Amino acid sequence: MAALLCALGEPAFRATQIVKWVHQHGVADFEQMTNLGKALRQRLSECMCFELPEVITEQISSDGTRKWMLRVAGGQAIETVHIPEPDRGTLCVSSQVGCPLECSFCATGRQGFGRNLSTAEIIGQLWIAARSLGQFPRPGRRPISNIVFMGMGEPLLNYDNVLRAIELMLDDNAYGLSRRRVTVSTAGMVPQMDRLKQASPVSLAVSLHAPNDALRNELVPLNRTYPLAELLSACRRFAENYTHESITFEYTMLDGVNDTPAHARELVRVLNGIPSKVNLIPWNPFPGGGYRRSSAEAIERFRAVLQHAGVITLTRRTRGHDIDAACGQLVGRVQARAARYHRVSTGASS
Ligand code: SAH
Repeated sequence: MAALLCALGEPAFRATQIVKWVHQHGVADFEQMTNLGKALRQRLSECMCFELPEVITEQISSDGTRKWMLRVAGGQAIETVHIPEPDRGTLCVSSQVGCPLECSFCATGRQGFGRNLSTAEIIGQLWIAARSLGQFPRPGRRPISNIVFMGMGEPLLNYDNVLRAIELMLDDNAYGLSRRRVTVSTAGMVPQMDRLKQASPVSLAVSLHAPNDALRNELVPLNRTYPLAELLSACRRFAENYTHESITFEYTMLDGVNDTPAHARELVRVLNGIPSKVNLIPWNPFPGGGYRRSSAEAIERFRAVLQHAGVITLTRRTRGHDIDAACGQLVGRVQARAARYHRVSTGASS
């Protein structure tokens, strides 16, 4: 934007002014940018435009969780979720329309893959949520204090667009979030994990779900491309020099599949040496899901084994279930067009 303004014969700081208008004041109309001259506002309206995803529905759960269904170019739809808690508000954003990874227990994975979201479509989710939650124009008031890339899609398969969106999330002239409060979650795209570490100081979450290759191949087919040993080495590299931080490992609890104390002990062994926090996610059902959620007792037993071994372990409370906004329940509207990832990369069929 600075380059464009220079081309218009304007000083570069005008770009900062515009970014502040858009991302701190929630203004998406040049006419309202009152510290820009009238002639410049006119020129800008001629050569730039604001494109926002259109809100199809906004639902509010009995627990305060909100879910937006947003129309994106091409007539497809994505979902974004806001989870309020006493000490923070987390926005869960989507990075793709659908998802190509086909994790066996995930509703998004079942519906196929549409396309990558643009940077504008990713940051547009934040803008729409911030406007709806009254975050503009008061920079001090923060309904959205944290962002997680845990909506639809695999963020590290849309690396460039996700990275540009992250830059705006962290930029003091835009959302100014601390790097610890922005988390990229991946099913284990090993090469991109290394790139991310070089490029951005954000936090990382890894969707593990199984402590050995046989089981993980079944649940997360991407494991056939990047098996556990490679993934865990990538986690060690990511955690290097991050002395105060740990990687969050997500582990969806599936009754009779991955939830026994033996699995927990195996998990302790594989995480050995990695600064880690484990997030246990009770499986959220969806039509035709084919799994059962682990019992509260099984989850507690599993947690106790990890905790006893010194691994910090939290059980994620299910939020927004009554509006299908919980983990793995986001479906939007996807026209699957592309071949799915692991078929492309490994030739495997399922
Ligand atoms: N593709 C990225 C981002 C999605 S994050 C990743 O895999 O990390 C969404 C998290 O919810 C992932 O850990 C995913 O495995 C988990 N999940 C998917 N379906 C679920 C379900 N039905 N119940 C509970 N968790 C689920």
